[in-house]
Amino acid sequence: MPKRPALPAAHSARIREGLQNVQQKTKARAASPLSFVSLDLLRNIIFFYFLLRWTRRALWKLKGRGLLGTLREVYGDTRRVLYGYFLRLPGVRAKVKKEVDGALRKLESKMVPADATRYLALPKEGWTQEAVRKELDALANMDHTRWEDGYVSGAVYHGEDDLLRLQTEAYGKFTVANPIHPDVFPGVRKMEAEVVAMVLSLFNAPPGAAGVTTSGGTESILMACLSARQKAYHERGITEPEMILPETAHTAFRKAGEYFKIKIHVVECPAPSYQVDIKRVARLINRNTILLVGSAPNFPHGIIDDLTSLSNLALRKRIPLHVDCCLGSFLVPFLSKAGFPSAPFDFRLPGVTSISCDTHKYGFAPKGNSTVLYRNQELRAYQYFVDPSWSGGVYASPGMAGSRPGALIAACWASLMSVGEEGYLAACREIVGATKQLLHRIRTSPILAAELEVLGEPLVSVVAVRARQPDINIYDIADGMGARGWHLNALQNPAAMHVAVTKPVAKVWSRLADDLEAVCKEEREKVEQRRKEGKDNKMGDTAALYGVAGSLPNKSVVVEMARGFLDLLYKA
Ligand SMILES: *Cc1c(COP(=O)(O)O)cnc(C)c1O
Repeated sequence: MPKRPALPAAHSARIREGLQNVQQKTKARAASPLSFVSLDLLRNIIFFYFLLRWTRRALWKLKGRGLLGTLREVYGDTRRVLYGYFLRLPGVRAKVKKEVDGALRKLESKMVPADATRYLALPKEGWTQEAVRKELDALANMDHTRWEDGYVSGAVYHGEDDLLRLQTEAYGKFTVANPIHPDVFPGVRKMEAEVVAMVLSLFNAPPGAAGVTTSGGTESILMACLSARQKAYHERGITEPEMILPETAHTAFRKAGEYFKIKIHVVECPAPSYQVDIKRVARLINRNTILLVGSAPNFPHGIIDDLTSLSNLALRKRIPLHVDCCLGSFLVPFLSKAGFPSAPFDFRLPGVTSISCDTHKYGFAPKGNSTVLYRNQELRAYQYFVDPSWSGGVYASPGMAGSRPGALIAACWASLMSVGEEGYLAACREIVGATKQLLHRIRTSPILAAELEVLGEPLVSVVAVRARQPDINIYDIADGMGARGWHLNALQNPAAMHVAVTKPVAKVWSRLADDLEAVCKEEREKVEQRRKEGKDNKMGDTAALYGVAGSLPNKSVVVEMARGFLDLLYKA
């Protein structure tokens, strides 16, 4: 047998190693024939998938906001984050806390009277009804801003005795009622269905349209957003939903964004119309868009968005459109009939798929009542919750709540039936009429016209004004009105204030205008006086809140204040 030449020891060891390697790899390959290819391929696929997603998002962002807008957003975000770090520095943190605590203590002394008897646990023995009644009277008469005399913007929309008495009676007849048991309370089921039907008819709903009642405008809006999100998920597989809001749209939409994980795009509503910029809305639409929004009118400025254009855009892009008519409620549907200029707002616009309308605003029902309307039953069904397998039995509820107050539905139904079409028409004439007169006065009175500028062309019941001259702070005017007993609303971006005219306000609109004149005159004199003395203007409380804190890059101080305020609400 020929003898093989001996290999050098080191060499043969390396060959053995190599063989072993090959063996192992072949084994591995035999075990999973695809693993070499698939791991690499998978990695590449995942990489390109994310690259594509990010690129697509970046492109959407660029398309939506433009290069400058995108840069501005990045700049704003960076400033916010950096300022957040600054606020957390030990020295700064302590100082901020001291300021916030001080402001909250001041607020507490106003909100929570120190001298009142407080009841922090159940009375050992129940009070007599007489004692309870007496205490309730005292509570109702606690020192408060006088809505009864028309001093409060919004808040109480009707407030007259005859209607209040009827509502209380209706409530009393149905105190125990809960629409979750339609067999036990058939009357409540009937009334709820009829309330929805009446509001649908007010908004020119097409055949097949549907709706529900809710606890208020916020819940109506939450439900409309949920329905749009569920529709997009089930019909188009959208898992990262986005919606596009006018910046003036009610913040309940942003709440829906937080609650239901819907990304929010906010669009400017520029002067002079203060309506949402439709071109910008269009640019922000992408395949994740589940809902467009317009207001009729919005809360801050009382402006009705260009809903015709929004409707056309929604139709063209096949995206649902919600019209928030929470505030417009029973005024906007009566504008034309009452002889006032109006604008398209309801289901007659073919792109409108849902509408929120508050029966507890200008529908004059007691608080805790609203409706959300849908163009068809499928849209309504997307807000339903059904659980077929609960140990408590098959469970189905139309919205957020389980048990609901049938008494409130009864009081709502009673309000609608007793006011009637004629009544709402008259209320529209009274309230919008007073608003027009207030508007005219602001635009023609020499003092008011010199100091105040009305935002846009309000068609309904809200008038928002800003200061014309840079040396006068509108918030100081709001504070001046506050000192005269008025409760008006401060607004921001831009700094402004508004009044929402209600039945009580309509009766005293000229006193409001007189006081506004007096306050503007006072402020002008104060500013001139300080100028003569060579001093800077002093800042009031509201101006400090919105002016200083509001202009900081990071609003966490404002958030802290607001949370402290919420805590105070629960201070017994
Ligand atoms: C009041 C209002 C809402 C929300 O209503 P709530 O009943 O307070 O929850 C929504 N949109 C607009 C325009 C409103 O004015």
